Amino acid sequence: MGIATRSEDLDLSRQTEGFAIQVEDLRKSYGNLVAVDGISFDVKDREIFGLLGPNGAGKTTTVEILEGLRQADGGRAIVAGINVLKEPQKVKGLIGVQLQASAFFDFLNLAELLEMFASFYGRQVDARALLRRVGLEEKANSRVKTLSGGQKQRFSISTALVNEPRVLFLDEPTTGLDPQARRNLWELAQSIREDGRTIVLTTHYMDEAETLCDRAAIMDRGKVIALDAPATLVQNLLAKGFRRRTAEREANLEDVFLDLTGATATWR
Ligand code: ATP
Repeated sequence: MGIATRSEDLDLSRQTEGFAIQVEDLRKSYGNLVAVDGISFDVKDREIFGLLGPNGAGKTTTVEILEGLRQADGGRAIVAGINVLKEPQKVKGLIGVQLQASAFFDFLNLAELLEMFASFYGRQVDARALLRRVGLEEKANSRVKTLSGGQKQRFSISTALVNEPRVLFLDEPTTGLDPQARRNLWELAQSIREDGRTIVLTTHYMDEAETLCDRAAIMDRGKVIALDAPATLVQNLLAKGFRRRTAEREANLEDVFLDLTGATATWR
């Protein structure tokens, strides 16, 4: 028994090399409803990986299983080298999960909140350096309720970085943000990846997925129905003979907005 377990562990370490996440035939039902229907995919180290799909496709269920927050019915999921179906608690120290800013206490300032989150991991954090990292250093003594929407999102990302996670999960990070704030956030995500972390991003914005993601999985009704680089997914569609009915305009209202209000990212 002991020998079998050890050889399984050896296999695991060999297979996980180069991959932040490996999912195989993952399944989860709620009663009769099959939310995740035998999906398989890999996320490479240092990739920004998109999980796309309509409401109810099974994205949140999938992500929460990978985060060790929900129990799967079957299959396999390895995250940062941990088998999350067997050891869901163990993965939590190795990942970062962006919480909604509304969940933060308001009796602490930003620096104090970061110190508190770090203490949950038994760590000390240079709160000012981390706030500088997300463009919020001058807000170190402010409360969350005084931040703009974009600042709240960046702060919530900073809280997910206190434990230096190998994999960062971002759940619709730019919903409700103005065009500049979205771009600020995209730049932040790219710079976090440049630090050597892997990002799993769920989003309903296809332009966001196209800009940020190295590869994206499209889910529908619990299944992965496509998985590739965004440009390849578009190429495959064109190869099938798809053409837009109207020619693309050279600029759109978002370009007007950015031109008038300043396209270059300044933290706000
Ligand atoms: P959205 O884009 O709206 O966030 P999603 O792709 O994240 O959707 P899930 O939240 O994973 O989808 O939901 C998948 C299916 O499972 C849906 O039909 C949903 O109603 C159902 N579901 C999710 N959580 C539960 C739960 N705790 N109990 C029962 N059904 C659930």
